[in-house]
Amino acid sequence: MRSFQYERAADWRSAINAFQAASADGESNYVSGGTTLIDLMKLDVMRPSHVIDISQLSTDRSLAAIEANSNGLRLGAFASMAQAADHPDVIANYPVIAQSLQLAASAQIRNMALLGGNVLQRTRCTYFRDTSYPNCNKRNPGSGCAAIDGVNRAHAVLGTSPHCIATYPGDFAQALIALDAQVEIMGKNGARKIAFGKLHVQPGETPNVENTLLPGDIITGFQIPAAPWTRRSVFLKIRDRQSYEFALAAAAVALDLDNGTIRNARIALGGVATTPWRAYEAEEQLSGQALGDAALKTAAQAAFAQAQPRDHNAFKIELGERTLVRALRQAAALEIPT
Ligand code: SF4
Repeated sequence: MRSFQYERAADWRSAINAFQAASADGESNYVSGGTTLIDLMKLDVMRPSHVIDISQLSTDRSLAAIEANSNGLRLGAFASMAQAADHPDVIANYPVIAQSLQLAASAQIRNMALLGGNVLQRTRCTYFRDTSYPNCNKRNPGSGCAAIDGVNRAHAVLGTSPHCIATYPGDFAQALIALDAQVEIMGKNGARKIAFGKLHVQPGETPNVENTLLPGDIITGFQIPAAPWTRRSVFLKIRDRQSYEFALAAAAVALDLDNGTIRNARIALGGVATTPWRAYEAEEQLSGQALGDAALKTAAQAAFAQAQPRDHNAFKIELGERTLVRALRQAAALEIPT
């Protein structure tokens, strides 16, 4: 690991000030749980000259609390994955969120990793994480993409570009985008809020740009609105092994049913796209339809209609469709207490 300057911030104001000051003479990064950054610094993939430790912000209740009321759920960005996954209100009323976190990583990582950092975790593309491959547009802009003609079994089929096909690795983000979450952000000009769906960006010509945050911004929380579909929700994750593994395909779904007819469906896909992926086409297909295998299958095919497979990942299209159908069936079968 390369040497770097370390600084610990006591609150968000001093963190942003430290970030701005340090950025004048090198690359700065915040660290909180550290489960992504330290990993990538050891691999020499990320090389910040300054690391600003913001883990102390978790002692600020407004940044770490998990609160639910009739308007919805607020998750402080400095709550840990485990705290959110085990919270009774989240389990009872937003099960897709609890499940997305329970199925991620390991118990040790879920205790360390914080929600804000979780949504910003970086791709597991092997070529990105191995610096012996020089051609990676995400790590080394303009160098090409080793994965496009390489081993791309784990790579994305949706939202790709000729410059990058890396899969977005997270699970929690799919639950947030499916439930129309908002992201609270604190920056040098104060607080703002954006739709979660506006946080990540597809690779396009600049795969090194992964989100719309400005330098020095800190994610402070997530707001999930109450809605008729949040309790009838499921996160289904398919992977090579049943523990401590990233998704080959995943579906976050939420349904509002009226006597066997789908009033509203919320659908997001994981493991198959370059960003957290809302499947609007599938949602539209299901709206007003009677629950039935034909409708679910048609919706799943619509979700993957624009998929672009490569040499080794075409299986993800059928796997993704089947994952989505199974998740929708599971959500429909839930018994919801009144
Ligand atoms: Fe790099 Fe993206 Fe290509 Fe992977 S898929 S090698 S992250 S440019």
